[in-house]
Amino acid sequence: MSYPEGSIIPRPEHPISRADIDVDVLKVLYRLHHKGHLAYLVGGGIRDLWLGKQPKDFDIATDAHPQEIRRIFRNSRIIGKRFRLVQVFFKGGKIVEVSTFRSRSEFDAEVDMLAPNNTFGSPVEDAQRRDLTINALFYNIADFSILDYVGGVKDLQDGIIRVVGPPEIRFQRDPVRMLRVLRHASRTGFQIDPTAWSAIQSYRHLIRLCSPARVRDELLKDFRSGYCRDFFQLMLASGLLAAIFPHIEETTDGAAFSGLQPRMQAVFGTIDLLTMGGLSLSEAFFWTAFLIPFLEKVTVLPFQQIEPETVAKYVDESLSPLEFARGRRDEVIMRLVTVSQLMHQLGAGRRVSARLKRRLCLPEAWLLYHILTGASQKFFEDIIAQQSVKPVLPEKPPTTKRRRGRRRTHRKKVSPI
Ligand code: ATP
Ligand code: MG
Repeated sequence: MSYPEGSIIPRPEHPISRADIDVDVLKVLYRLHHKGHLAYLVGGGIRDLWLGKQPKDFDIATDAHPQEIRRIFRNSRIIGKRFRLVQVFFKGGKIVEVSTFRSRSEFDAEVDMLAPNNTFGSPVEDAQRRDLTINALFYNIADFSILDYVGGVKDLQDGIIRVVGPPEIRFQRDPVRMLRVLRHASRTGFQIDPTAWSAIQSYRHLIRLCSPARVRDELLKDFRSGYCRDFFQLMLASGLLAAIFPHIEETTDGAAFSGLQPRMQAVFGTIDLLTMGGLSLSEAFFWTAFLIPFLEKVTVLPFQQIEPETVAKYVDESLSPLEFARGRRDEVIMRLVTVSQLMHQLGAGRRVSARLKRRLCLPEAWLLYHILTGASQKFFEDIIAQQSVKPVLPEKPPTTKRRRGRRRTHRKKVSPI
């Protein structure tokens, strides 16, 4: 059946069942409803349930104002300054968030500077302030119907990622929405609506206006999503990656830039396999994996011969737009240097030096070494089965014999990395 904008889809015509909704979320919805309020399940939770996926979180929207919500739930508190929402607490530290319908997004920064604090709105306005049509559906607990003010059901059925409203305006108001388009396209496998795609090409440079911390956090979500291969492919193809990291584009000529694709795809494909398998990896690990294909392209020396100073300089130049904390930057450099040294030593059939073995980052560097050298599927499946990375390093040099009779008389002072 086809559903135009403004449709109410009755329960028998949609796949969303209460059995798939968290019991505490249902309790909050029913309580609001019994107190005479509109109570809708909103956002990404509906999208995921419709697609038969397990939602990460459930969000609730209502016409009750924060103070009223707070009064209805004793175990709750109001958070946020400009955009207040209520957190309802349940056993085991579970939190269900309830927000009042809004007329605009908290991310529409420019408008907020001028507007008064009161941003409450109607359900229609709340749907219209959302990013994508598939993220703007409401599930009404009163009759279990779906409310679709933006044509999101049709887009779910047709497999389209479409921005709510004109993409150029929505991207100018909040450039992070461009990342969200690519995120949801990669997660769902849906096609990006052509007007959104061309607006990304036109407005991609605006991403530099967003707070570096926000962009960093957003990208980290994609590293960890299990779909980072497709996400970064879209980032590369749309030019958004180069917009965020101008140095990365500058240091690779056009041909090399497109030549990166197969390497990035292979590296990120393996990372997706590991994260889908539940392996937990550090933030520094992802940034290291991200930088390696670029480093391989730009340096004169092969990656395994690269100098620590060159690595540090490259990391500083390329990651500077995202203003990393010093500690995180050091972790990335240490991993890059360690992978390069592992490649050098293991690649030459040598034993891994004691200095390398002592490094805290060795397990992740060892994993990266295997990703880069294209280890077998079985190797990664074993890591997933163990849910940890334990380096197995050759104790004796497999090929060369150590010459006897040589004594070391002088120890060269080594740099810490
Ligand atoms: P995920 O599965 O990653 O949680 P999600 O769609 O639920 O996906 P959230 O970041 O949890 O993403 O956001 C919840 C909802 O808030 C979205 O579904 C969308 O409706 C709205 N939203 C989030 N970010 C924006 C934004 N930048 N502009 C407009 N609406 C947004
Ligand atoms: Mg969510």
